[in-house]
Amino acid sequence: MEQNFYYSQNSLGIFKRCPKMFEYIYKDGISGKEMDPKLKKRIEAGTNFHILAERYFNGMKDYFYIKDGELLEWMAVLEEKYPEDIDCRSEFEIRQNKDGIKLMAKYDLVVIDNDKIKIVDFKTNKNPYNLEVMEEHIQTKVYMYLLGENLKKMFPKIKIEDISMEYFQLNYPENQILIKYTEKKHEINKKILGELIGEINKNKKYLHLKNNGTCVKCGFESFCKGEAKKT
Ligand code: SF4
Repeated sequence: MEQNFYYSQNSLGIFKRCPKMFEYIYKDGISGKEMDPKLKKRIEAGTNFHILAERYFNGMKDYFYIKDGELLEWMAVLEEKYPEDIDCRSEFEIRQNKDGIKLMAKYDLVVIDNDKIKIVDFKTNKNPYNLEVMEEHIQTKVYMYLLGENLKKMFPKIKIEDISMEYFQLNYPENQILIKYTEKKHEINKKILGELIGEINKNKKYLHLKNNGTCVKCGFESFCKGEAKKT
C-alpha cells in the first residue's frame, strides 16, 4: 500500500467482507472481472446524482440540460428535503492520522443547524434500508467517529452528543434512517476502528476464504482458485 494511503469506509468494508479481496485491491492493485453492466449503470447513475447534488449545494442549480427522468426526480426529492440555502458543507472531507487510526471520509453533506450537526449520506439504491443494520454499518462508524474526533477544531461549539447521521434514500424519502451519536458510541467506535486497522497493518498475507457465499459475487474467484492450486 502506498505511504499516503488512508483507510476509508470503502476499504475497511472490503476488508470486513473478505481480507483476501482487500489484499488484491489495495495491496496488489488489481481489479476483478468486468462488472455486471446493470450494476455499472446503477453506479454511474448514483455518481451523476452526487455530482449534481454537489453543484446544487454550491449554488449551481444548472441541470436544465439533463434529460434523465430518474436523475431529475432524485433532484426534486433532494430540493424538497434540503433547500439550497441551508447552512451546510458539501463533499466535506476529514482526514486524520492519530492513535494508530489513519482514516479519511468524504461526506456528501454536513448540515449545521445552530448547535446541531447532521451528516447526510445520499443513497440511490433500489431497496429500503433498515435502521438497526445501518447503525452497525462500517460507514456509520467511520463517518461518525471521524467527525466526533475532529469536532472541536472544526465546530468548537458543537458537542459529540449533537451529531447525528442520516441515510437519505432518494427512492424512499419517507423511510427515515436517522442515527444519533453519543460519547459512549464514540469510544466504542474508536476501539473497533483502531483494532480493525491494527489487524490490517499487522498482516502481510491473508488466507483465502473457502466456500463462502461472498465468493460467488466477488470477481476474484479465478485469482483465488489459481492461488489455491499453487498451495
Ligand atoms: S473469491 Fe472469495 S476468498 Fe477470493 S477474494 Fe473473492 S471473496 Fe475473497
